[in-house]
Amino acid sequence: MFIQPIASHFIDGAYVEDDNGTPIEVIYPATGTIIGRVYSATPAIIERAVESAKRAQIGWAKLSGTERGRVLRRAADIIRERNYDLSVLETYDTGKPLSETLCADATSAADALEYFGGLAGSLTGEYIPLADGNWAYTRREALGLCVGIGAWNYPMQIACWKGAPALACGNAMIFKPSETTPMCALKVAEILVEAGLPPGLYNVVQGAGDVGAALVSDPRVDKVSLTGSVPTGRKVYASAAAGMKHVTMELGGKSPLIIFDDADLDNCVSGAILANFYSTGQICSNGTRVFVQSGIKDAFLKRLCERLDLAVIGDPQDEATNFGPMASERQLELVLGFIKKGKEEGARLVTGGNRISGEGYYIQPTVFADVSDNMTIAREEIFGPVMSVLDFEDEAEVIIRANATEFGLAAGIFTADISRAHRVIDELQSGTCFINSYNDAPVEVPFGGVKMSGVGRENSKEAISHYSQLKSVFVRMNDMESPF
Ligand code: NDP
Repeated sequence: MFIQPIASHFIDGAYVEDDNGTPIEVIYPATGTIIGRVYSATPAIIERAVESAKRAQIGWAKLSGTERGRVLRRAADIIRERNYDLSVLETYDTGKPLSETLCADATSAADALEYFGGLAGSLTGEYIPLADGNWAYTRREALGLCVGIGAWNYPMQIACWKGAPALACGNAMIFKPSETTPMCALKVAEILVEAGLPPGLYNVVQGAGDVGAALVSDPRVDKVSLTGSVPTGRKVYASAAAGMKHVTMELGGKSPLIIFDDADLDNCVSGAILANFYSTGQICSNGTRVFVQSGIKDAFLKRLCERLDLAVIGDPQDEATNFGPMASERQLELVLGFIKKGKEEGARLVTGGNRISGEGYYIQPTVFADVSDNMTIAREEIFGPVMSVLDFEDEAEVIIRANATEFGLAAGIFTADISRAHRVIDELQSGTCFINSYNDAPVEVPFGGVKMSGVGRENSKEAISHYSQLKSVFVRMNDMESPF
């Protein structure tokens, strides 16, 4: 199987190749075999991408929001029509099971295009009455050229969560996918042009961190939106700050999931499974520190293990599979390293803990119990299928422990006591919270983190403020006065 994209980059409305760049092999994580090759962007490719985006953005910003929105909504329709093929491609890119990609990747990309396409025509300023008949108004204007840099876990979703609001507001975007998953963003660019997007407004360039860094430091770039790890976020934020650029940072997490003893056992087991094993645990907002009130700990672990036995691990392209491989060999090694540390530091391995033999980068769904707050597996982001179960006794204690982390992306609570649910959520230092649920991410709701987990919000009306700026215009209706 070889799935070669037409070319490595998509610039100014067309596929572009430049094989002077460093080759990047595309590896199918389920087999470890090479299924494609792209080339990292050379300085000449970056120049073409920036120059065409700058040129195209001027005319795009002059269209009405309704006209811009129409293009995005058409693209959403095309994505939905091709959901099956796009999902198969996403599964080759990431290794995530087709049973997931069919309902969570291209569809979520389409949701973003549809939502921001609908919002585009509603972007207006304000009329501000002032003394003596004077007045002012505000205009909501595009920022200009935005750069989007993606992680490898949700390539198509990330390409659209950044691209859709950027385009809706009248910006151009250059998107750099993760080098691990280079294929899906090219399809997004192709479909946008098919839907009527003028050339140059959504360019895709391939490459590793050096290509991302070159884009971030380019003085012609006005905004950077990164989805990635905290260490990369620090570098990108610092580089953007040197040019006083706008930023959105969607970074890592080590989120708490708190289960009180009055919660419905099966619901909270379902929540914990979704919060740790969906996408083989490769989700930034995962609730990987599962605090279980001591009275139900044994029942919780027993039910959890029974349910984990039902995981269907195998060929991700088979729709019956619901647990796939890690996205790369590097990620596999990182996660195995964390499992080893968990064992060494005295956590009790309840289930899993091993690489699955055979081809591909598979790890068993893994659960540690009796985890304490200072263990490495309870402090550091693992980004794999490893759940840490921590015991707690009461509400006040668990709030302090849940907040004792540098991260603040998400948090969840399961309880039958709705007053307690809101009381605890009020105290949690997290940007995105769930009550009796976990990891829902509808486009209507703001998504993002606090503390080291990020800056700004994606999705919802809130994203508009991160892809546009206000111009204030004062209008005098009578004569000017001056001191001399
Ligand atoms: P990385 O931080 O390694 O990379 C993210 C992106 O940044 C990649 O495209 C990478 O390129 C690029 N990059 C690396 N260095 C630089 C640099 N100096 N300047 C500009 N760009 C650079 O993250 P991963 O791809 O490994 O993704 C996993 C991380 O992403 C986890 O921490 C996870 O929590 C986080 N994440 C956050 C989400 C959120 O919404 N909060 C959602 C999904 C993931 P390349 O890798 O190609 O070298």
